Amino acid sequence: MKIVVLKFGGTSVGSVTKIKRVADIIANYRKKNFNVIVVSSAMSGVTNDLISKSKKICQNFSDSEHDVLVSSGEQVACSLIAGRLIHKGFKSRSWLAWQIPILTDGPHKHARINNLYKNKLIKYLKEGGIPIIAGFQGINSFGRVTTIGRGGSDASAIVLAKFFKAHRCIIYTDVEGVYTTDPNKLKKAKKIKVISYEEMLEMASLGAKVMQPVSIQDARLNRIDIEVKSTFLNKQGTLITKRSNIINNRIITGISSTHNDAKVSLLGVKDKPGVAASIFKPLSKNLINVDMVVQNISSNGKETDLTFTIKNEDLNKTKKIIKENKNINFRKLLFKKDVSKISIIGVGMITTPGVTFRMFQALANEKINIQVISTSEIKISVLIDTKDVKKALNVLHKEFKLER
Ligand code: ADP
Ligand code: ASP
Ligand code: MG
Repeated sequence: MKIVVLKFGGTSVGSVTKIKRVADIIANYRKKNFNVIVVSSAMSGVTNDLISKSKKICQNFSDSEHDVLVSSGEQVACSLIAGRLIHKGFKSRSWLAWQIPILTDGPHKHARINNLYKNKLIKYLKEGGIPIIAGFQGINSFGRVTTIGRGGSDASAIVLAKFFKAHRCIIYTDVEGVYTTDPNKLKKAKKIKVISYEEMLEMASLGAKVMQPVSIQDARLNRIDIEVKSTFLNKQGTLITKRSNIINNRIITGISSTHNDAKVSLLGVKDKPGVAASIFKPLSKNLINVDMVVQNISSNGKETDLTFTIKNEDLNKTKKIIKENKNINFRKLLFKKDVSKISIIGVGMITTPGVTFRMFQALANEKINIQVISTSEIKISVLIDTKDVKKALNVLHKEFKLER
């Protein structure tokens, strides 16, 4: 069986007209004798709307009910796609995760798919059917509905491609592929023809929403090539694949940026073993994700300043946790909202000296102040004021000649 997995994102199924187009794309693969497995997200805006409704019901809306609620958007999109395919003369039906089933473990809202029962789908494919599967959802061992994190339909598609040893896995979206940076933030951004899993994983984790990080991790582990392309234009997209398939001489492949970050600084913290742990333990217990961390030792060696970043929405909770924490003594607590992380990513930096200097100099020339720095083998991230993001993207794009 030659199988293709096609995933359609929210904008791609955002209206009845768009769903008709999606059905035409699916029909074309069927006509070319592929067995097609479709994964759909909810119509654009629906998931956000459901989340905001839950917040109006209660600020602490139950996690298990959250998953039942927010996964419902996918059901609507899947039945509309299947309905259109039936109208066009194909055999098709929607499949919700519990009907397959797709099993998950881990907490509600952030579950991970760990198994998928193929039998019913194989039988259906053999009968010539086109299954339209709800992305983003699963069920846990208690039979409760779960979701796998925002943007999770990408991960659902990769898991299906893995279990069915698909010939191709194509992510259809509202841009033509993966770009050097978000094309909606920088017009000069260029489409990347081919990118390694490692670079895509960094770009996605550092803010490039076009692919969800978990999906890339799974694709990398299972060596699944992914094609990202436009639902609306029939153009070549981006191939995400293993490094050895790529010949290139770029130093930097792409730039990602985040928004809605906040910076927290504790000044004059007593410097003794266990201090950092006692600050971060209650944050992690409250599911607050700490991102960049820097610690400066004072000249007398007895005190330290500790700075870290979190999401804006976690700021009030973080303030409360730190102020109520009796285990830490500090002189001053500072908070800053509206900071953003800009990251340059590329495997080329491993072998090219001077990349850090070029990044810092380019930002300095634009008088953009760097507040925190963090690096890994293939990325350099800096924290700057959100108001400077556009300027920074522009200057870094130019510095590393990404428009070529
Ligand atoms: P879908 O609904 O199809 O899953 P998403 O909204 O999740 O689509 O992702 C597509 C969006 O990702 C684009 O509209 C674009 O604004 C954003 N994006 C961010 N960084 C990049 C990038 N480097 N390349 C392409 N798109 C990006
Ligand atoms: N509809 C879900 C979301 O908005 C899943 C997805 O889009 O992949 O997060
Ligand atoms: Mg998405």
